[in-house]
Amino acid sequence: MTSETDAGAAEGIREALFDAAQEGLYVVDPSRHIVAWNAGAERITGYAAADVIGRPCGADILNHVDSHGTALCRENCPLMATIEDGEPRGAMVWLRHKGGHRVPVRVRVARVRDAKGVVIGAVEAFEPAAGPDPDEMEVLRDAARSDPLTGIANRGHFDRVLAERLADPIGDQVGLLMTDIDHFKRVNDQYGHPIGDAVLRTVAQTISGALRPGDLVARYGGEEIAVIIARPSSAASLGRIADRIRLLVSQSLVATSKQSVSVTISIGCAVADSGSSPEELIRRADEALYRAKDAGRDRVVVHGVGDEAAA
Ligand code: GH3
Ligand code: MG
Ligand code: MG
Repeated sequence: MTSETDAGAAEGIREALFDAAQEGLYVVDPSRHIVAWNAGAERITGYAAADVIGRPCGADILNHVDSHGTALCRENCPLMATIEDGEPRGAMVWLRHKGGHRVPVRVRVARVRDAKGVVIGAVEAFEPAAGPDPDEMEVLRDAARSDPLTGIANRGHFDRVLAERLADPIGDQVGLLMTDIDHFKRVNDQYGHPIGDAVLRTVAQTISGALRPGDLVARYGGEEIAVIIARPSSAASLGRIADRIRLLVSQSLVATSKQSVSVTISIGCAVADSGSSPEELIRRADEALYRAKDAGRDRVVVHGVGDEAAA
């Protein structure tokens, strides 16, 4: 074999690996324009290669944010940093799916050089992190437990799970988030009910992707989504989880034929020791939600926190 056929074979092998990988893989040039995009990336993001090749990765496509909701593209892009210093990097980020909702992914970034050692860009490998519990998803395929519009649990299933979690008098603490979309009537009025439905689905999916196994997200009422957080370490940590969810929702989008719609949510949080009553926990989370709305919306209020200061 000549060195040319060797090089040709190596190229073919690399291409096959790129195509066969389960992970999402994409390559950017030094100006961060996307030059290659594999099937894994398409599966995880919803974008086909044709949607993204040639576009800058920051061009309102994936729109990576970190767990605090901070946009990474302009100042904190791991691809940019690795192109500059050659250090491989890993990070947990949230990308925006083509459908608009946020997906948590673990990314690894490495620099790419050509045969002469010249830096020609960087590759990012990513795979879904955490997300909904697969067992829970299986359970929800049972139509009796899921909400047909959003695919998350319905009110009946939520009530049963909450009662179960609280029933054990020496079990773990339970956290509850009551979320309500801000000014949702305006969304319906301005864009119509079908777009309102799409927004509701996006919010449900984004919240669902932000949770850990053991948590449960359910459609509690019209545009109210309730979340059971398993074993929160404290009321403050429950508040931080809620705030991350709030930010991720505000950074999700629903594309209409004319423009993109985004909404904010308000969240009321409460923690209960096992052995307490579900009604009592729901009442306290509802009260906190009411306060979040009253204080201007797009915010999180934890029941019992800040009350002393207010008093
Ligand atoms: P805010 O919560 O910020 O006080 O204002 P809001 O406009 O969201 O008020 P509220 O929560 O009381 O209103 C809920 C609205 O949500 C009323 C109803 O039109 C709409 N809604 C409820 N369920 C659905 C649904 O399944 N699909 C759509 N498109 N809209 C829904
Ligand atoms: Mg409401
Ligand atoms: Mg509302």
